[in-house]
Amino acid sequence: MNATTKNDAGFSPEALREKYRIEREKRLRPDASAQYVDLSGVHAEFDRDPYVEPGFTRPAVAETVEVVVVGGGFGGMLAATRLRQAGVDSIRIVEKGGDFGGTWYWNRYPGAACDVESYIYMPLLEETGYIPSEKYAKASEIFAHCQRIGRHFDLYRAALFQTSVAGMDWDDDARRWIVTTDRGDRLAARFVIIAGGVLHKAKLPGIPGIESFQGHSFHTSRWDYAYTGGGPAGGMERLADKRVGIIGTGATAVQAIPHLGASAKQLYVFQRTPSSIGERNNQPTDAAWAQSLQPGWQRDRITNFSAIVSGRPQDVDLVRDGWTYIFDGGSGAPATSPEEAAQQRMMTDFRKMEEIRARVDTRVQDRATAEALKPYYYQLCKRPCFHDEYLDTFNRPNVQLVDTGGKGVERITPTGVVVDGQEYPVDCLIYASGFEVSSEYTRRLGFDIRGRGGQSLRDSWAEGASTLHGMHSRGYPNLLIFSTTQSGWAINFVHILDEQAKHAAYIIEQCRQRGVETIEATDAAQQAWWQVIYASLANMAFGGAECTPGYYNNEGGAFGMREVKMAALASGPLEFIKILHDWREHGGLEGLEITRAADPASP
Ligand code: NDP
Repeated sequence: MNATTKNDAGFSPEALREKYRIEREKRLRPDASAQYVDLSGVHAEFDRDPYVEPGFTRPAVAETVEVVVVGGGFGGMLAATRLRQAGVDSIRIVEKGGDFGGTWYWNRYPGAACDVESYIYMPLLEETGYIPSEKYAKASEIFAHCQRIGRHFDLYRAALFQTSVAGMDWDDDARRWIVTTDRGDRLAARFVIIAGGVLHKAKLPGIPGIESFQGHSFHTSRWDYAYTGGGPAGGMERLADKRVGIIGTGATAVQAIPHLGASAKQLYVFQRTPSSIGERNNQPTDAAWAQSLQPGWQRDRITNFSAIVSGRPQDVDLVRDGWTYIFDGGSGAPATSPEEAAQQRMMTDFRKMEEIRARVDTRVQDRATAEALKPYYYQLCKRPCFHDEYLDTFNRPNVQLVDTGGKGVERITPTGVVVDGQEYPVDCLIYASGFEVSSEYTRRLGFDIRGRGGQSLRDSWAEGASTLHGMHSRGYPNLLIFSTTQSGWAINFVHILDEQAKHAAYIIEQCRQRGVETIEATDAAQQAWWQVIYASLANMAFGGAECTPGYYNNEGGAFGMREVKMAALASGPLEFIKILHDWREHGGLEGLEITRAADPASP
């Protein structure tokens, strides 16, 4: 077949592969992840919490607790919940926001909703007796569920809100962590769990002139309803006489743009790379179905989904949505070799992305706009999106797509946004530019961690992480980390967070039972774990190498040993969960060096 010959499905794989390569090349840039800037210094105002009254003060806290949990999002709440269930009561949760919720505290932009089915995404539904009102619940309902979890498991009394950790030091004599905060607190803790979140540090594109803009601007995770009017359901009446620009067309922008299009006098959407937009088909929850659910239903449904989206077909697809459709390879003959399996996956991907591109044509009237909205990359190079109003929004006379041909916005002026030499004047500029993912770990956390002998985690991980299960790192006793680094990753990430929470609670509870004061990963265990991670990466279906730049592949930048050592286990969430489960079943705390109360202070 030559490069332009189409197959029976109506496309040429060679031509598509070449098109994907060209589109990727357009977007590669030498500064990769360094193109972004954080919300500090001249950009600090972008990080202000718009959801709390200014001027909050409280007396500093000085206390000794068993466990400090850093972060009050799903990870931290699940950790605290599983600890409480294991009988650990002495807990402090330190959270930057004014309430629980993490992502769902910050992301209140119009249209925000979960993109994974709420019945599997929202944790602890059976324990709290709650059933979401829709298949894909809106952000405010998810935030309310976070508060419900807080009340149900009595977590509020443990929380220090509007508080950021400033530093953490291991006191080898007392065998405790000393956690200090920006409110002058000093917390001594036997254990620390870091559940700092994966997508929590907002970033701005480093476009020249951002600080010169004289209009109003904000990041989507700090939505300024005082300026726009309206609320999470839209109806932003104060934009009726405003020209609004939004930079970015990722998962956040896709949900916000239909509401901005409906409210603004004029909306410019500045696009660098189009997202893939599949069908959403949101539905209200069927009361009869909800009543028919049997105990254990949520765990079964979560596992069923994670299996299917890890490429492990199941007899029944309980969720049946756009996500599971992506992984449905059809009923062809099974592959007889890994190469054939990879080829089959690629052909399925081409076919599904052709459907995505065809869908654009059915929804968008203007041909040039439709062409510009078509994504040309493998579907999982970026987070796939699902929406039933996004594409149609570009049919509105007041909405204009400004495609930057993969280059991005050129410049911001005091009065507008420049693309290809042309200025688009705007009164309000919204950054839907995402969150830091592959930047240095402690930079994302916002503080360094000083372990045994004062060694810093920033230095220890400078050339890549060394861990056991992504949770323990030698030199940092009694520290339990929830992240994706050498850990699990899942499309339904809360599934991983809950397993990490159960694992951490088990370890802490075992230490109490066995009179163990410190645990610390051995070198040998870290080496062995690294071999497991490395082998899983070697067997990955597609490397990031052929992907268009994005936060999944370090923005197309270097992927050397440091980046590889920061990667997650690539053999899927169920494999990770099984490894943790088997380790607990074995019961010997293998790979952890332990000291008891009577032992000398240092190993
Ligand atoms: P993303 O990082 O996915 O998107 C950032 C956007 O900004 C991209 O479209 C990017 O373009 C664009 N951009 C960056 N720099 C420039 C520039 N210089 N000029 C023009 N455009 C630029 O962030 P999101 O907040 O959209 O999503 C982050 C993640 O959060 C998602 O992947 C998802 O995991 C999660 N999320 C989940 C939701 C849910 O429904 N549960 C909803 C929203 C987010 P380019 O693609 O070219 O880099």
